[in-house]
Amino acid sequence: MPKMKRDILICGEPVLRKKARPVRNVDQAVRDLLESMVETMLEASGLGLAAPQVGESVQAIVARADDEEGTLIHQLINPRLVTAEGEQCGREGCLSLPTLYGQVTRPERVLVRGITPAGEEVTVEGEGLLARALLHEMDHLRGVLFTDLAPEESLVWLVPDAEEEDGLRYEGTTLREAQEAFDRLRQRGRGRQ
Ligand code: ZN
Repeated sequence: MPKMKRDILICGEPVLRKKARPVRNVDQAVRDLLESMVETMLEASGLGLAAPQVGESVQAIVARADDEEGTLIHQLINPRLVTAEGEQCGREGCLSLPTLYGQVTRPERVLVRGITPAGEEVTVEGEGLLARALLHEMDHLRGVLFTDLAPEESLVWLVPDAEEEDGLRYEGTTLREAQEAFDRLRQRGRGRQ
């Protein structure tokens, strides 16, 4: 089996700030890209992933929704927001900004229209976490990261701490400190290649 998993780019890579181009033809290359994004998202235990995060500046996203019936994975090409209602405020993170979290206010329910890998128009209804994930991934297609939306004072690192009940604690940070940490992480990543 070919290796499908892709490397996830870290904040600071220029492609993460670019506006992604729409997909004109839903061909095998796009289907392969989406497949590899699903694999990469699941492997990283993420709730979603956008194509720019694996270095492809095209409008394609994947998102997962878990409920009592199992896991449902959405793959959307050229997604666009149709309606949004309500409001939720919660902690948000991103696979391109590992272990950083911040408070982001989002609509509670959304309708997103896009194209499936089979080339069919589809409307996805998202509520709660799925709404958050869909909006977060669509932001990536415009070059927007959650740190653009979260108040700086809400930014925290999730730090392992054996003394805490759940083995973790949050530690406050700043945008600048976070960016410096991601710059170092990217340098280390390059060193491995
Ligand atoms: Zn993200």
